[in-house]
Amino acid sequence: MRKALVAGNWKMNGRAKQNGELISSLLSGLEQQALTESVDVMVFPPSVYVSQVKALAEGSPLGVGAQDLCEHADGAFTGELSAGMLSDCGCAAVLVGHSERRAMFGDTEARVAAKVSAALEQGLVPVLCLGETLEERDAGETLKCVEAQFESAVAGLEAGQIEQLVLAYEPVWAIGTGRTATPQQAQEVHAHLRGLLAGKSAEAAATVRILYGGSVNAKNASELFAQPDIDGGLVGGASLKANDFLAICQAAASS
Ligand code: PEP
Repeated sequence: MRKALVAGNWKMNGRAKQNGELISSLLSGLEQQALTESVDVMVFPPSVYVSQVKALAEGSPLGVGAQDLCEHADGAFTGELSAGMLSDCGCAAVLVGHSERRAMFGDTEARVAAKVSAALEQGLVPVLCLGETLEERDAGETLKCVEAQFESAVAGLEAGQIEQLVLAYEPVWAIGTGRTATPQQAQEVHAHLRGLLAGKSAEAAATVRILYGGSVNAKNASELFAQPDIDGGLVGGASLKANDFLAICQAAASS
């Protein structure tokens, strides 16, 4: 039985004061509703605020991760952050291959694979983001696209490493657009990904959590999370509002 996971991707949002208010509301809501008994909850703030959020969440079950990492370990990579640094600051996980990184910051398939390996080497859980564009969906290439992304990212990994991953299916056309995949559209892709995991290791297929992301909100979360292969959500916009994010966590807890 996989425990649901709800992950909040803050993207490039937040300031120290707002972060403090958001975390304080989240922590009290999670505790009052005893949500973390049945759902793991994580936030992914901008990296400069990871230490602040870690300190605020100290002693609570709220996990903290980073939104990206550099594939290299140390050295002359001005502006970059390594897996070792993120781990040192208390990150437990890191998003890899988010569509915004792929589209705007040159995250090729090769870089995504290198980032996944770098994260694993430092004990960070890579949350590997995959998803098709609208053109690919309209061309009937959704499964082919996510399969190619998945296979490329895990090509150099052993079964035991694949078992450490979290996958996030995020159709590009649904991210930040208010347009959500239907539960059936999402389930079809999640089931396909589950099959690909099974091809690597039965343990991976049984234990790896596959999150859905793309305009998840308090209203559509329950129906999405009720699908057999959807194990929670990667939430962008709605993770910035404590009540909305808590309602999504509640939906995952009751799924
Ligand atoms: C995301 O950034 O991963 C995301 C899913 O964003 P949103 O929920 O705003 O669509």
